[in-house]
Amino acid sequence: MPGPDPRKPRRIALANQKGGVGKTTTAINLATALASTKRVLLLDLDPQGNASTGLGIPRASRGHGSYALLIGDRPLGELLRASQIPGLDLLPADNDLAGAEIEMVAMEDRERRLANALAREAETIKRYDYVLMDCPPSLGLLTLNALVAAQSVIVPLQTEFFALEGISQMTRTVDRVKRALNPGLALDGIVLTMFDRRNNLSELVARDVRSFFKDRVFDTVIPRNIRVSEAPSHGLPVILYDVRSAGSQAYVKLALELLRRDRARAKAATQGNAA
Ligand code: ADP
Ligand code: MG
Repeated sequence: MPGPDPRKPRRIALANQKGGVGKTTTAINLATALASTKRVLLLDLDPQGNASTGLGIPRASRGHGSYALLIGDRPLGELLRASQIPGLDLLPADNDLAGAEIEMVAMEDRERRLANALAREAETIKRYDYVLMDCPPSLGLLTLNALVAAQSVIVPLQTEFFALEGISQMTRTVDRVKRALNPGLALDGIVLTMFDRRNNLSELVARDVRSFFKDRVFDTVIPRNIRVSEAPSHGLPVILYDVRSAGSQAYVKLALELLRRDRARAKAATQGNAA
């Protein structure tokens, strides 16, 4: 009898050591778009808690969340919150999460706390098709924990000058984690964000990134769009705030592209096994 499928749920970290590049925006909206056909869990691993706020859970009512899971070994089921989006649950960032980065340093298996917690919580986790992890803007222990727990990392990249320099540090980190801690990790995609059609530089940067990273760059590009930046202050993903906006449409397209890629990968894997 086949055991549980280790690929399910698919675990994806959204990481980039730079802040303000669209990690949280991508986490929230990709999660929302995926939730129209899949069951999705979003883990807010950033002490700033922007993913929690952006999904309508303000700081004051956040309660326990990722800190309690990582440090307190609390059961995941007690910490999860349903979002306003059917099919999307959230593990919020609790107010203690800022301390986790330091507290974990002295802990055993400090880079595997999240991976271990998810393994321990296999029963709860298997309800989901996707687990997305929103990382803080650093390459500290919280991001490292996400990279060790993930099968795939998506790097949101702002189309601006120096974009390529910024991403080389990220790819080196992914390579290092792969070698030392998580051989199954794949850099599955770079998502170009805040793309400005009227700006030649955006176009140039996009071309550069594509010529270097080839098909590891998602075809879908996220445009700079005012509705995307307004949505979080309403505690809503842009897809609920203004579904017709260019930003919403782009995130729906990104989710479809991700699903297509995942289906192709799953198919290749079964054929590989059969051969
Ligand atoms: P990160 O999580 O990488 O720090 P965020 O997702 O929080 O980045 O985005 C940084 C800021 O840019 C936020 O204020 C967000 O609303 C805004 N933003 C993100 N994506 C877009 C976009 N496509 N168009 C306009 N503003 C955006
Ligand atoms: Mg963020």
